[in-house]
Amino acid sequence: MTVEDYSGKIRVLAGEVVSRIAAGEVVERPAAVVKELIDNSLDAGSTTIRVDVKGGGLGLIRVIDDGEGMSRTDATLAFQRHATSKLVSELNLSSIRTMGFRGEALPSIASVSKVKVVTACRHEPVGTQLLLDGGQVTEVHDIAAPQGTQVEVAALFFNTPARKKFLKAAATELAHISHVVQQASLARPTIQFHLTHNGQALLQFPAVASHRDRVMQVYHRRFVEHCRAVRGTGPGLCVEGFAISPEHARTSRSPQELFVNGRAVKNATVSHAVYNGYGSFLAKGRHPVFVLFLDVDPERVDVNVHPTKREVRFLDQDTLHREIRRAVRESLGAHPTSIQSTGLPSRILEGSAQSEVTVTSRPSPGGEPASMRDAGSRSTGWEDTVRQAYLPLASGTGLSEQGMRAKEPPFRYEAAPEVDVRPLGQVNRTFLVVQVGNELQVLDQHTAHERVLFERLQRAWAEQAMPSQPLLIPEPVELSPQGAALVEQHASELEKLGLLVEPFGSSSVVVRAVPAMLGRLDSASLVLDLVEDLGQWDAGPSLEAKVRPVLATLACHAAVRAGREMDLPEIKQLVEDWVREGFPATCPHGRRVALRLPTDELARIFGRG
Ligand code: ADP
Ligand code: MG
Repeated sequence: MTVEDYSGKIRVLAGEVVSRIAAGEVVERPAAVVKELIDNSLDAGSTTIRVDVKGGGLGLIRVIDDGEGMSRTDATLAFQRHATSKLVSELNLSSIRTMGFRGEALPSIASVSKVKVVTACRHEPVGTQLLLDGGQVTEVHDIAAPQGTQVEVAALFFNTPARKKFLKAAATELAHISHVVQQASLARPTIQFHLTHNGQALLQFPAVASHRDRVMQVYHRRFVEHCRAVRGTGPGLCVEGFAISPEHARTSRSPQELFVNGRAVKNATVSHAVYNGYGSFLAKGRHPVFVLFLDVDPERVDVNVHPTKREVRFLDQDTLHREIRRAVRESLGAHPTSIQSTGLPSRILEGSAQSEVTVTSRPSPGGEPASMRDAGSRSTGWEDTVRQAYLPLASGTGLSEQGMRAKEPPFRYEAAPEVDVRPLGQVNRTFLVVQVGNELQVLDQHTAHERVLFERLQRAWAEQAMPSQPLLIPEPVELSPQGAALVEQHASELEKLGLLVEPFGSSSVVVRAVPAMLGRLDSASLVLDLVEDLGQWDAGPSLEAKVRPVLATLACHAAVRAGREMDLPEIKQLVEDWVREGFPATCPHGRRVALRLPTDELARIFGRG
């Protein structure tokens, strides 16, 4: 594409859309400016976001990102009211996937301050510098700049002295800013964040792979040690996070962080459900402390209810309440999160000046079993698994029809998927590219398959229909003496899951049969991972809570792994299975399954909208 073809991304919203968005003043204090600028940087796809403030934000606020940047036309348009690249028609209002969508933040900020923007995008050979004073553009010129955007806000509220009077001391405003940066960091662990105040580093969070690692960076290690991992799924929703053990509950309510689809919000239903989950575990006058990440189908949550998007409304409050309450309740019976330490630099200041906490991240819970990640590791059980799971489609597998039926899951789906699934291909033998209805979707083949298997396993478990498949050659597994004892102790429960394991000497077991519906898998590494789950078994408050991690481990081991080539019919089958399960957004460990891009979004990107 040439520079001349680039028509710009920002449009001014039509009147009827404007009338439907929850309008209002977004800039009430410096922290609100920081939040809006970070939101914009996130929406621009940045990987590093740096926030510099002076004088509690009243002197200066500067946010620098390495996102997609803006063209000269866009940079000027961005400061008009209701100019946005994120919302095209009111139809999009029901499924907002970006942090911003109203096109209000930049004009509101600019109207009460002096702004300097330096931005450069891929589409234009040079960058743009824009100066505004009280909302009026005073200067626009070319400038050499790296791709990304830097917004500087000085003299905040210089023209609204009444507002300025309501501000608190710089230290208080700085605390609010610091909280905003923490929230954004918690919501997006894979993005690197920095915060400086008067030139001094305040927060520094290098990119990490999981929420767990980011929580470790943001809070004192002791906090995390005192927490329980919370995990739960319900129809169209998935919750993950940490909640304090009742014995460490606090007299204050902080932190109580809730993130819904990556947005920090307050929600009375969720808070109520958490308190309810603790029930009588909580001593009088004590409050739970929690950090919860909730993933909800964007169609089932309305983010357009509050001017600063601080609140959301859920379509199905009852299910939400029930699932959160259950997830919290279940976590309280479990062992502490047992997070250990490694070399991640943690927060620098804030109270515990200069204290560097180092933490170890264990392999991410959503990761594939360690034994399978190693190149050239033991068996390639996954290939057989895939072949069996998609047997009707794979050619030349040589297995008889009868054998096929014997391995079919002991249940049937009632409905065929309502949407058309057109497989398009595979990227890096890891991601599937598919058209589903009128969405372009990219799925992680491992997490998608893992989730499908997990749902099937859960149903089969509930129906007590988990037949086992004897191994032709029983497989011995070396464990620790404690591990072997654990397996022996829980042999009868494992048998109910279709896994037949017998003691074999003092520190080994032998696997005789595995759950039939999973096909062949690397039973040795499966048992090694199960030992960890069994360690938690006795602490589980309910049978369901005990079994869930075991089922998740089974699904993880049986799922097709990254690196495995899949042909179009296999891709179609897997994606249809996932669609039939209701498009679950994450794998049982909380890792994302799919990236969904509606075709009208594509049309907009290509200037057809
Ligand atoms: P909204 O975020 O609701 O769209 P804003 O007033 O915050 O409204 O921003 C207006 C537009 O300016 C955005 O839609 C986006 O296209 C562009 N923009 C703002 N900040 C950035 C940034 N940091 N990088 C790239 N584009 C940006
Ligand atoms: Mg915005």
